[in-house]
Amino acid sequence: MFRMFDKDFIRSELHRILGEEDAHRFLASLHFKSRTKGRLFYWQERMIDKLCKELSMPKLSLEDSLSIFNYCHLHGDELTEDSVPIIYGTFAPASNGEASYRSSCPYANSFVQGPCWVEGTTHGTVFYCPTCRQIERQLEDFRFTSTATRI
Ligand SMILES: [Zn+2]
Repeated sequence: MFRMFDKDFIRSELHRILGEEDAHRFLASLHFKSRTKGRLFYWQERMIDKLCKELSMPKLSLEDSLSIFNYCHLHGDELTEDSVPIIYGTFAPASNGEASYRSSCPYANSFVQGPCWVEGTTHGTVFYCPTCRQIERQLEDFRFTSTATRI
């Protein structure tokens, strides 16, 4: 028998059933790769199967997953849609310091990294976490001296 659960319950069960590490891997891939490609990976479907089986609920589709798990796993904020500039060019690899601060605001998504050639489009659609953006803004000087360093 299918029981209706609220989003918060399913979210907390995702972390309990998969464990923190796999839940974070699932969510990061969902919000970046799956959303762009329009499908779940096989390993994500297996995680969804495990969750749904344990909660006795019907299998979640990609659309269901994007709706239910539309949150930042670090701050709990709902992800919000936004149109942001596309920055074209070749980017220097992230330094250790930058990678470390990026991990504290994984869903800032304040710009889209375009290819090294310039195309006609100037903006792209992203989903961002307001708290991640706030953290990124506080570290903005650092971002502009390292992240956006073009080669
Ligand atoms: Zn966040």
